[in-house]
Amino acid sequence: MSHLMNTYGRQPVTFTHGEGVWLFDAQGNQYLDALSGVAVNGLGHAHPALVKAIQNQVAKMIHVSNIYGIAEQEALADKLADISGMDKVFFCNSGCEANEASIKLARLYAHNKGIENPEIIVMERSFHGRTMATLSATGNRKSQAGFEPLVSGFVRVPYDDLDAVKAIASRKNNVVAILVEPVQGEGGVHIPLDMAAYLQGLRKICDDNSWLLMLDEVQSGIGRTGTWFAFQHADIVPDVMSLAKGLGSGVPIGACVARGIAAETFVPGKHGSTFGGNPLASTAGLTTLKVIETEMLRENAQKMGDLIKSNLQAALADTKGVIKLRNAGLMIGIELDRPCAELVKMALEAKLLINVTADKVVRLLPPLVINEAEAKELVTRLAALIKQFLTTPMVINANAKQHEKATW
Ligand SMILES: *Cc1c(COP(=O)(O)O)cnc(C)c1O
Repeated sequence: MSHLMNTYGRQPVTFTHGEGVWLFDAQGNQYLDALSGVAVNGLGHAHPALVKAIQNQVAKMIHVSNIYGIAEQEALADKLADISGMDKVFFCNSGCEANEASIKLARLYAHNKGIENPEIIVMERSFHGRTMATLSATGNRKSQAGFEPLVSGFVRVPYDDLDAVKAIASRKNNVVAILVEPVQGEGGVHIPLDMAAYLQGLRKICDDNSWLLMLDEVQSGIGRTGTWFAFQHADIVPDVMSLAKGLGSGVPIGACVARGIAAETFVPGKHGSTFGGNPLASTAGLTTLKVIETEMLRENAQKMGDLIKSNLQAALADTKGVIKLRNAGLMIGIELDRPCAELVKMALEAKLLINVTADKVVRLLPPLVINEAEAKELVTRLAALIKQFLTTPMVINANAKQHEKATW
């Protein structure tokens, strides 16, 4: 019997090691990793430059407290400020913690302005994490159920709907910020119809009302959509941005990045983290960013993402049951007309690692290092599986269908 708490429905496989986009198990099977530990292993597995940098750092010093200067952390903050056009960084260990920092920052900003009961606008279908505040900000009833009372101070609107946000602006005077994913990941890989127009619209509403524009780029950041950050497709800069997943290539690190007045909001005693930005994690972050730059992985993410989508589109053109293919770089979603959790297991048997989110959306988040041959191999394997799945009778999916009803 396992002594692990029952928080995951785990796939029946255990890996021993990896190399690039490939993972291996103890039986010698080789799997094509199209998930990257959920958008974490952007450099693939065992990237030599990352391995070397981490090994060197471990031999010197893994951790010291944030009550001392940490040169590696300073260097990573400099680099993040440089590539984002923002000013200051707070380091933590995960995406939910980065969003916790953003939420606390917005509330402090509000109280400093004399707003005693501040509210933050959040989106339907959003995902911001599993801590109490980020769970409350998340737009998925299923993950909230059983954890009430939720944290108050959030007001929810539909995603990709500027009018809904404007309506809140004219109705409420205690709103202080908008927290939004530029591309929704867990919610089903939803990309605003016109991402640039949507983000520019949100930017303008925030400017007009002195609200903070807070982007959750935990999944969309660090090169995944073809730019360092998804907001760079829109030629705007947010006030606050949360990062994690791909930042440390698997060494836990999160960051809350801020600009202007937002960057000056926290003062000593208001927030902190024991591990956040320690020498090991900061070295992993800095090396990740350097490799993305030197190996031109943002450009590769854009190219390979578009290639995977167009090749899948061609391969599935005559397949009934495929609703829509979406991609922003290497954030790729294939929406089907039915719940498709079984595809994950079918893919595993075909030695392909994928994910299904929002019940009906096959999600691909391959390493940013994926090359053309590997991308084509991914398309070949996945298209065959989707075709096979969609030609099996719907009754097989009855259980999944009931499950879906309980979700939203
Ligand atoms: C994964 C994710 C989070 C939560 O990150 P954790 O590291 O699991 O806490 C938050 N926001 C978005 C958009 C995510 O994709």
